Amino acid sequence: METKIFQIEELDDAAELLKRGELVAFPTETVYGLGADALLPESVKQVFQVKGRPSDNPLIVHVADFKMTEHFVDKYHPLTEKIVQHFWPGPLTLIFPIKKNSLSPVVTGGLSTAAFRMPDNKKTLELIKKTGAPLVGPSANTSGKPSPTTAEHVYHDLKGKIAGILDDGATQIGVESTVLDLSGSIPIILRPGAVTKKQLEEVLQTEVLLDKHLVKESETPKSPGMKYKHYSPDTPVVMVRDNDWESAIQWAEQNQKAVGLLVGPMIGNKFQSADRYIFQDDTVEAATRGLYSGLRALDEADHSDVILTQIFEENELGAAYMNRLKKAAGQKYFEKNS
Ligand code: AMP
Ligand code: MG
Repeated sequence: METKIFQIEELDDAAELLKRGELVAFPTETVYGLGADALLPESVKQVFQVKGRPSDNPLIVHVADFKMTEHFVDKYHPLTEKIVQHFWPGPLTLIFPIKKNSLSPVVTGGLSTAAFRMPDNKKTLELIKKTGAPLVGPSANTSGKPSPTTAEHVYHDLKGKIAGILDDGATQIGVESTVLDLSGSIPIILRPGAVTKKQLEEVLQTEVLLDKHLVKESETPKSPGMKYKHYSPDTPVVMVRDNDWESAIQWAEQNQKAVGLLVGPMIGNKFQSADRYIFQDDTVEAATRGLYSGLRALDEADHSDVILTQIFEENELGAAYMNRLKKAAGQKYFEKNS
């Protein structure tokens, strides 16, 4: 199959393919999604096949507006209106109980709830409208690879396997959406993302909980997808605390390890010799935007024995960055005396 790259003005052609049951990747503010009409179970099955995604990991249903969820949702949480008004379109996925048989078990993994999001990308919202149905959209990568943040990443992983990619350049945020469970009485964050616990609590004026596994690593996550090991590059990834950079570089020199650096300019400028992927600036926003891209680049270049990465405090956006990085690093930190 030829995978066509659609420029942003070729929306009609992309929508035509989706209507026919083909798969088309679409841009969002978080990462690129692998789109299929959520109401065509055969197409949704192909999404799992193409990605190699475990079938018990339910998909997010992407809508063009809040009204589109009404056909499926059985009961809204009392805070829904406030949340949607404030955070949609945006990087916040909401879980609601759904009407029986309103969505195929292929989409929901057989659960009685489903995940919904209105992405903040005008062209993708238009694409959903033109298709006339919500789109499922897991990240458009091969399972086990970092999520794609450019159309080129999607092409690299899925060329020949999907009908098209709608190209809108690099994504703004760089990691997947926050997942908020609104199916019980207290809102619970199941996956950290760019909409933070603090932001939610400020807007809602009520406590928002974190799923047990986000507080204690040994707990089983409520969200089926969070139990899977995400990207672990062939090259080992090791996290380095701010005060340990000198020691880490010394250790590498002494042990003749070729080092890949995934860091902001402040650290990157101190260590010129290494194979480096430098984030745009030293903020956690820039690091989050560059994380997957950097891991892909350093791992594929295959120049390094080890990738050393910068860490951030695990609050606000740092919680999302560290959640993804820790998975890539298998929780491993550089320890001075080892
Ligand atoms: P992805 O499509 O890869 O961004 O992943 C979607 C995330 O939402 C995964 O972690 C899923 O397990 C999670 N998810 C989707 N539907 C539900 C649901 N009904 N209940 C809990 N988690 C869900
Ligand atoms: Mg994914």
